[in-house]
Amino acid sequence: MTPVSTFADKRVAVFGLGGSGIVTAQALIAGGTQVEAWDDSEASRHSASEAEITLVDLSKTDFSRYAALVLSPGVPLTHPKPHWTVEKARAAAIEIIGDVELYCRERLAHAPLAPFIAITGTNGKSTTTALIAHLLRVAGRDVVLGGNIGTAILALDPPSNDRVHVIECSSYQIDLAPSLKPTVGVLLNLTPDHLDRHGTMAHYASVKERLVVASDTAIIGVDDDWCRDIADRCEAAQHTVVRLSVERALETGINRRGTEIYWTCLGEQRSITDLSGIPTLRGVHNVQNAAAAIAAVSALGVSNDDIREGLKSFPGLEHRLEVIGHIGKAVCINDSKATNADATEKALASFSEGIFWIAGGRAKEGGILPLHPYFDRIEKAYLIGEAADDFAKTLKGHVPYVISETLEAAVEQASHDAQASASSEPCILLSPACASFDQFKNFERRGAQFRSLVEALSGFKPFVKG
Ligand code: ADP
Repeated sequence: MTPVSTFADKRVAVFGLGGSGIVTAQALIAGGTQVEAWDDSEASRHSASEAEITLVDLSKTDFSRYAALVLSPGVPLTHPKPHWTVEKARAAAIEIIGDVELYCRERLAHAPLAPFIAITGTNGKSTTTALIAHLLRVAGRDVVLGGNIGTAILALDPPSNDRVHVIECSSYQIDLAPSLKPTVGVLLNLTPDHLDRHGTMAHYASVKERLVVASDTAIIGVDDDWCRDIADRCEAAQHTVVRLSVERALETGINRRGTEIYWTCLGEQRSITDLSGIPTLRGVHNVQNAAAAIAAVSALGVSNDDIREGLKSFPGLEHRLEVIGHIGKAVCINDSKATNADATEKALASFSEGIFWIAGGRAKEGGILPLHPYFDRIEKAYLIGEAADDFAKTLKGHVPYVISETLEAAVEQASHDAQASASSEPCILLSPACASFDQFKNFERRGAQFRSLVEALSGFKPFVKG
């Protein structure tokens, strides 16, 4: 844990007692803060009182008693409208901050040079965060990883000069962290997302911009207009900016040729690595993630040899194009995190042919119509859940399909059919393009069931990580 000392002997209100809220309250208490905490949910209040956190109904207290309101990132700060705690804090003119801010102040107070890599973007945050941490570990660094992925930031060991914090930041966390100033800030990409919580794309982008604009080194994917403008502004303000693109040639920055990643400096090119043959980093989207990770660890002095070693042994993340193993010649891939057509597009684009595609669940607007350009890569589709009939209508006349109804039947049928494929390495791909809630508790459960069904097939050979 990182005890928060910067509010020692002061009184602070904490609202939102989910996983990270409880850790935040505990870290404040450990640093000598008087915490008064609250949550609308009785279950969360119960967990907090079990953890010996003082509960006070914040709707009934005078906020001028507090030095700050520490808010959980799940609680609306601005849109659709500010939460009532936010209104009360503003009326009392106290600051409103989150756990990432508390970490930043702790770092500034006790270890201002402690290496700190912060990662944001609309897509690819978790993969890039995990890859950066992995590359640093392979290079022998002491690394802690958390934030919006896995462990809450204040549950990690404290900042220190010989420990790297690799932190995934959601836009909500950035919004609550005015002194966020990482050693390396990574902004991968920006597309419309979470606009219900940010109002407009311009506001969403301006929040994300804050992470890179304050970094010592800013690493920015410039394949969309929003990020390109942000990179221009950072450069105009004399910041160190590393641009990366997987779509167009840059004069200076990190580029891609197929699966090869190279540095280019005023047009002169130097190859870094080729991702072909790394099954955990398939697809152009992963080239973008890998390029960002390479730039980030290079900024901390990791050598190209260590980078190449680390990329080869990256285990990947569960449920995101996760390689489970082989049935005969067919590779089995769990992409259960793909809950919409956009994410499934990334998966289909990662295999040029021989796809035995398991899809369906609770459909999102637009269904699988946007996936039409990839239909010729699919040998057969296995449709499950509520969306099966609708998806069948879209596929009719383009892709052979069967209505499997359940994941169990789909895995059975796909693994049988894949063996007869003419492709040298057919792919049994669970990438549902749908939410899971009609048949599963969440996408993690869906992915876990896929894994156990595949593992139970006769002749299954697991993928050996690293
Ligand atoms: P996040 O943490 O931002 O949600 P993840 O790394 O968990 O991102 O990846 C989630 C999904 O987003 C992946 O399964 C893939 O479909 C898509 N994705 C990953 N990286 C990128 C990228 N760089 N650009 C676009 N989409 C991506």
